[in-house]
Amino acid sequence: MIRPILKFGEGPLHERAAEVGELTPDIQKLIDDMIETMYAAPGIGLAAPQVGVSLRIFVIDLSVGRNANDLMVFINPQFLELEGMQLEEEGCLSVPGFNATVARPMRAIVSGLDRNGEPVTVEGKDLLARALQHEMDHLDGKLFLDRVRGIKRDLIVKKIRKLSRAGKW
Ligand SMILES: [Zn+2]
Repeated sequence: MIRPILKFGEGPLHERAAEVGELTPDIQKLIDDMIETMYAAPGIGLAAPQVGVSLRIFVIDLSVGRNANDLMVFINPQFLELEGMQLEEEGCLSVPGFNATVARPMRAIVSGLDRNGEPVTVEGKDLLARALQHEMDHLDGKLFLDRVRGIKRDLIVKKIRKLSRAGKW
């Protein structure tokens, strides 16, 4: 089932998500829905808070469904390592229509549980490192806009407020 994606300004997006306890059928259904919602958007990553569920789960697939091996599911993930620096344009399904350049480490190692509760560790560089960090941020209630400084951020927030007032957000 495709779930609606929350947008900038909606509560759960801006709150720290809780650890997942037992991997119940509801959690499995949530993960299935997140994958379906990510592919339908289409996007390369989606975190549970983006569909209004404040739990530490995200999915990533840089191939957007073209290669089954590229799909990753992380539950209760943590960084093991962050290294280097990259500067790239970034966007978010929860901030549609806006992009900004965000500085992030070039390489990231993340470990967590997969959907079967088995430990999983992934090392990413470039875009995968960026996606891992972007989704980790969602679990802490942070959007890429929160990593954009100064006038660029103010300008985007102003435009979103305007759209919001006009009922177009
Ligand atoms: Zn996002």
